[in-house]
Amino acid sequence: MRVRLTKTFHFEAAHDLPTFPDGHKCRRLHGHSFRFDVVVEGEVDPAKGYLIDYGDIKQAAEPIVKRLDHYYLNKVEGLANPTSEVIAKWLWEKLKPTLPMLVLITVYETCTSRCDYSGG
Ligand SMILES: [Zn+2]
Repeated sequence: MRVRLTKTFHFEAAHDLPTFPDGHKCRRLHGHSFRFDVVVEGEVDPAKGYLIDYGDIKQAAEPIVKRLDHYYLNKVEGLANPTSEVIAKWLWEKLKPTLPMLVLITVYETCTSRCDYSGG
């Protein structure tokens, strides 16, 4: 039995996007209530009846959330250009070593705008 599990995390942060055109609103310093999903996939152990403890995902992600929450993302190492795309890859690279079952990161910059990244 193959399943996908998703756990959602939140952080509040400021950024500006230096690669957008002059005069674009995203060039100005602004903030978002970011949300991201950590999606893992694998075979359920029949004896246990679960893939992974959601708490293990939380334990892997929380130290990373602490590095982002209420920070100016452009100053975080590796996030000089903190687009949703760059943030998704950054999260992937931080989480994949401790969560080998990771198959997808989705970063929600707003309620209607999100970026999916699955490695590569
Ligand atoms: Zn923004």
